[in-house]
Amino acid sequence: MKLVENSAYHQIEEVAGIEMELLHVGSEPVGMRCPFCYEDVMTKAQYKNSRFTHIVALVLGILFWWMCCCVIPYITKRWKDVEHYCPNCRRYLGLYTRRSAIL
Ligand SMILES: [Zn+2]
Repeated sequence: MKLVENSAYHQIEEVAGIEMELLHVGSEPVGMRCPFCYEDVMTKAQYKNSRFTHIVALVLGILFWWMCCCVIPYITKRWKDVEHYCPNCRRYLGLYTRRSAIL
């Protein structure tokens, strides 16, 4: 009897890159080369209220309701998602989210 060794060819699946954003961008406009129009541009940042913004507002509203702190997340950029656009071709370049941000 001879055992066939079959385990030599493990398929290594790369699953890491699937859910990555288009680009690694931060919360502020960043200088880069646009992958669509190949111009060196400064990205145009748009601040969006995310679910995280609402959660922060809710928590602050509960803790500091007597100071009306619940409006703070909506008027500061600190807890908002940031969408980056190319100012030249106006294509969407990447998203910065606050999910992992420390309060
Ligand atoms: Zn562009």
